[in-house]
Amino acid sequence: MHRALTPRSPRPPRLLLAALLPALAACATSSECPEGPVETPTTDTPSPRATSREAPATVAGPLRVAVTIDDLPAHGPLPPGETQLSVHTAILDVLDAHRVPAVYGFINAGKLERAPADRAVLELWRDRGHPLGNHTYSHADINKVGAAAFIAEIERNDAALAELVGDTPAARRSRRAFRYPYLRQGADAETLDTVRDYLLEHDYRLAEVTVDFGDWAYNPPYARCRQQGDDDAIADLRWSFIATGLAFLRWSDQTARALEERRVPHVLLLHSGGFDAVALDELLSAYERQGEVEWITLDEALADPLYQRDVRAPSEYGGTLLEQIIERDAPAPAPVPFMIQPLGLLENFCT
Ligand SMILES: [Zn+2]
Repeated sequence: MHRALTPRSPRPPRLLLAALLPALAACATSSECPEGPVETPTTDTPSPRATSREAPATVAGPLRVAVTIDDLPAHGPLPPGETQLSVHTAILDVLDAHRVPAVYGFINAGKLERAPADRAVLELWRDRGHPLGNHTYSHADINKVGAAAFIAEIERNDAALAELVGDTPAARRSRRAFRYPYLRQGADAETLDTVRDYLLEHDYRLAEVTVDFGDWAYNPPYARCRQQGDDDAIADLRWSFIATGLAFLRWSDQTARALEERRVPHVLLLHSGGFDAVALDELLSAYERQGEVEWITLDEALADPLYQRDVRAPSEYGGTLLEQIIERDAPAPAPVPFMIQPLGLLENFCT
């Protein structure tokens, strides 16, 4: 699980909680939802701030997005009849069908202690040509364990990664991509700096995220709905998942353009859960169709100057890179509505 099932953080006061997706929220508890994803406005409207200057060339063209998958080899409850191997095979099949290149799977090797057979999931990911990165050994919350234990978690997971992918220069580079669990980097400056300095001194690349729409929260209700055979509820989950995913991609694109005055490549966070597996094809298709998205690798995204910043914004709640920049710099970008996931509503599905 990525975060608690609550609206995840109080926002900086400069961000207005203006857009709560009221139609989506209503739909999430109703069986009278439209079948397909909601029509969203196009994403090519420059912010007022951006229009005050000459539009950079990078504003034009497709929206480049890197897909990343967290919590391998197991995330959330399995739907009936599925195995971790079947879930991950389905995810990889969709990624390949959409020609999404080099999708990082960020692993918690500690999960193999309880389910050693799930090692086959990690080997499958590797053997199908996708890289594996570090997400700590047991999905540690830095706010709970502190800097020293968190670093030990990174090192223990790296040892497991070395057994999986080896120790060649290419393998070491793969292993040196790090994703903070819960996107939390430390609630205080000392903790954040201690871990950040360790990561940078050991040549880790920070796999920051710019698009996080709470995909993980759909996996528990989906497993329950499958158990009950409630196809109408599953259809509602699908609708909500796609609409929320589209809305958050648009928010991230507009916010980044307001902050950077240009279009930047994005990093999408998804999880290796049962609902992700069945909704992924529709999500990627919706992004390609409505967002004119072009799939890129994580390293292509991280090469952008946006990701070269060493943003250090202590926060109890964590967040995407865009949220960190806003938290730290308070740059007061053009007023882009903040989006809220319908997380609490998902708890009521198929209970
Ligand atoms: Zn995670």
